[in-house]
Amino acid sequence: MLIEAPRGTQDILPGVSANWQYIEQTMRDICRLYGYKEIRTPVFEHTELFLRGIGETTDIVSKEMYTFTDRKERSLTLRPENTAAVVRSYLENKMYAESLLTKLFYIGPMFRYDRPQAGRYRQFHQFGIEALGAKGPSIDAEVIILAVQLLERLGLTDLNLYVNSVGCPECRPVYREKLQEYLKGKTEELCSDCQSRFDRNPMRILDCKNPQCGEASQGAPHIVDCLCDECSNHFEQLKILLQAANINFTLNPRLVRGLDYYTKTAFEIQYAPLGAQSAVCGGGRYDGLVEECGGQPTASIGLAVGMERILLALEKQNLLPAANNQIDVFVAPMGKETQGMAFKLLCDLRKNGIIADMDFMDRNIKGQMKQANKYPARFVAIIGEDEAAQGKVMLKNMESGIQELVDSSEVQNKL
Ligand code: ATP
Ligand code: MG
Repeated sequence: MLIEAPRGTQDILPGVSANWQYIEQTMRDICRLYGYKEIRTPVFEHTELFLRGIGETTDIVSKEMYTFTDRKERSLTLRPENTAAVVRSYLENKMYAESLLTKLFYIGPMFRYDRPQAGRYRQFHQFGIEALGAKGPSIDAEVIILAVQLLERLGLTDLNLYVNSVGCPECRPVYREKLQEYLKGKTEELCSDCQSRFDRNPMRILDCKNPQCGEASQGAPHIVDCLCDECSNHFEQLKILLQAANINFTLNPRLVRGLDYYTKTAFEIQYAPLGAQSAVCGGGRYDGLVEECGGQPTASIGLAVGMERILLALEKQNLLPAANNQIDVFVAPMGKETQGMAFKLLCDLRKNGIIADMDFMDRNIKGQMKQANKYPARFVAIIGEDEAAQGKVMLKNMESGIQELVDSSEVQNKL
């Protein structure tokens, strides 16, 4: 019996790994432009970190975590997202002592017990950035603009950026009460998840994917109408900065996070053709999280991009670069006697940075030419017995068909 990959996981096969490298490189290039440096944290952390850093009332913690105990009975969890881990590392490594503002990015696998479907997996990958230490709206604008520029550079169109403000621990409780007041008579209409959210985390009812909950909360008050002066000014400034940068956005009062340490700016970028998995990027401010994790109050903001969804969008828009398997030269010995010389030539070429290959399957010359065409190879270095005796090879330009007898030490210069 063959063993299959676990449900919700995918192999990234050689035919598509170049696509991954392409988007990862674009992400790295953008981060270099904006001054975000890479951080790599472990794929598992103490479960406690996510309980505190994501919140027990969230879907992620309440039903999506891969939690296990190790041999010493410690509870560990495969990271479902990376912000909490970055904050943990920021504090543990005292990065705050190095500079007032710390700008980091990460790329890597995340794990959630989600219901697998197109664009939703149990092991998936995120690119994310975190800016820790700055409280003004210009860093919010920078983070959003970075995401927009990334998606633009990949060539994606038809994306929608939604922004909202979720207030702060000063003004949110007032809104929360207003919202509960509004929903009080409608709890019967809510899905069972939202019924339990009503007390614990009512704001999450607003972004429930269940249409009946959307209907029930249709006329609910908007948090932007309840913001305190500070949050309201912050939001106004952000909108001005985005407009000045020519960024198109739509206000979406239903975009929420709903936990105390998520503050002010919340945003999401959607690509509608991905249906229920339309969110390609989500982010926001988390001014209370560093303190929640045991540090000094540190205003921060970040985002995460779902890489599989980016690839789906690129595929839909036909934007993936064509595969490039071309090699510089294929070395083709004719007969056993010339194999040693062929192998030495292959090694020398590679040592000098020439992309070269040869047959390892004892194919005859016809089979080898076929293989060379398949790559395709720009040149084939044919080594027959006569040529070998003189230390020469027949170098064939595969495009023009022209052949030339050259010294084997000269092959590299001829390419
Ligand atoms: P969704 O509402 O689609 O479940 P989310 O709110 O759980 O998304 P975030 O926690 O904000 O997502 O994660 C940021 C991004 O990571 C999402 O916008 C999405 O692109 C991607 N993402 C989240 N969960 C998955 C998953 N299970 N499989 C693939 N990508 C995912
Ligand atoms: Mg989710």
